[in-house]
Amino acid sequence: MSRIVMKFGGTSVADLDHIRNVALRVKRQIDMGDQVAVVVSAMAGVTNQLVGWCQALSPLHDAREYDTVVATGEQVTVGLLAIALQGLGIEARSWLGWQVPVMTDDAHGTARIQSIDGTDLIARMQAGQVPVVAGFQGVGSDRRITTLGRGGSDTSAVALAAAVHADRCDIYTDVDGVYTTDPRIVPRARKLAKISYEEMLELASVGAKVLQTRSVELAMKERVRVAVLSSFGAPDDASQGTLLVDEDEIVEKEVVAGIAYARDEAKVTVKHVPDRPGVAAAVFGPLAEAHVNVDMIVQNVSDDGTTDMTFTVAATELPRTLVVLEKARAAIGYTKLITDKDVAKISVVGMGMRSHAGVANKIFRTLAEKGINIEVRSTSEIKVSVLIKQDYTELAVRALHTAYGLDAS
Ligand code: ADP
Ligand code: ASP
Ligand code: MG
Repeated sequence: MSRIVMKFGGTSVADLDHIRNVALRVKRQIDMGDQVAVVVSAMAGVTNQLVGWCQALSPLHDAREYDTVVATGEQVTVGLLAIALQGLGIEARSWLGWQVPVMTDDAHGTARIQSIDGTDLIARMQAGQVPVVAGFQGVGSDRRITTLGRGGSDTSAVALAAAVHADRCDIYTDVDGVYTTDPRIVPRARKLAKISYEEMLELASVGAKVLQTRSVELAMKERVRVAVLSSFGAPDDASQGTLLVDEDEIVEKEVVAGIAYARDEAKVTVKHVPDRPGVAAAVFGPLAEAHVNVDMIVQNVSDDGTTDMTFTVAATELPRTLVVLEKARAAIGYTKLITDKDVAKISVVGMGMRSHAGVANKIFRTLAEKGINIEVRSTSEIKVSVLIKQDYTELAVRALHTAYGLDAS
């Protein structure tokens, strides 16, 4: 007997038929003699609609009220799945974040889980009950509902798996594992039977949304075994997904593990800032204080004693970024702000970059051959990212996938 946390994403619970299928899959796991807790997301598209409503009323809305609104999607699906499971004769009950409770910090909209007391859930699972827990949500120390950032149900599932000492956390989604890149835009992407936590972490952090970054971080820290599986394939295919493992468990190491893209960043250029010490601090200090995460940064060469500072932020953070920079205008001393949402960040990730030279250069050469201009670039130990025009996303990802020898034969 094992204890398993099964997580189902938005497309897996998109409508009542899908919810019935999820219930059957859960029943199958229980029939195998396992103890099961389930985590679900909102129905596909629902969270986007809820976010859209908040933005339509006010782009600079109160993040606490945003959480109250967007957390509702998961309330619907936990109740429906519990009903579907009960219909199959399974003793199931829904749990909202605050009922567990999933305690988080007070960073509304991007809250971090601080603790989950699994004692009650464990006792109930041992007594044969199936907890159906709302993903994506928790409760802050201010006793208000919080959400964990987009895609946060993955993190809910891994945190729950750690809290109830589960043997495994199975993430069921609409693809049958982690691929060398998004299989929806590169049909020749290859499924990976195993991927190291480190590479998955890096891929997730640069846009491979199959797992939320924090879920991988948490799995690594809490030593949770995570599998990514399809909720659409035949149940017997369950062993066919991708397992997250330690680096030394991967026998045939590739230089590059995968390629990711993110179309949800925006580029900001601060024009003509005085080229003197302290000016970067004047720009990025107020943004840090406002909890705006700055990603890529480039400072252009100066010719007339001024310089242009270009950086990227999450597109959803753009309105707040502009407010902060407008306020700091006098202190920074720039002439104008230029913004561009028509960009995409393409990243190549692989442990092998530590020991192989020329990986970055191959990106630059491959994109140049396709006539794609690189606007900003950044590198880390196991990753190279470039910012390009959004229209070229698919072309760039496909070309790089081929150039790094990742295409399935
Ligand atoms: P869920 O709603 O189940 O959480 P998501 O849409 O958040 O599902 O994540 C699954 C999606 O991630 C896939 O449909 C796929 O398009 C995308 N994806 C991006 N990169 C990868 C990758 N490297 N491997 C697999 N899927 C990927
Ligand atoms: N429903 C939330 C979202 O769409 C959480 C999740 O799907 O993981 O971001
Ligand atoms: Mg997701």
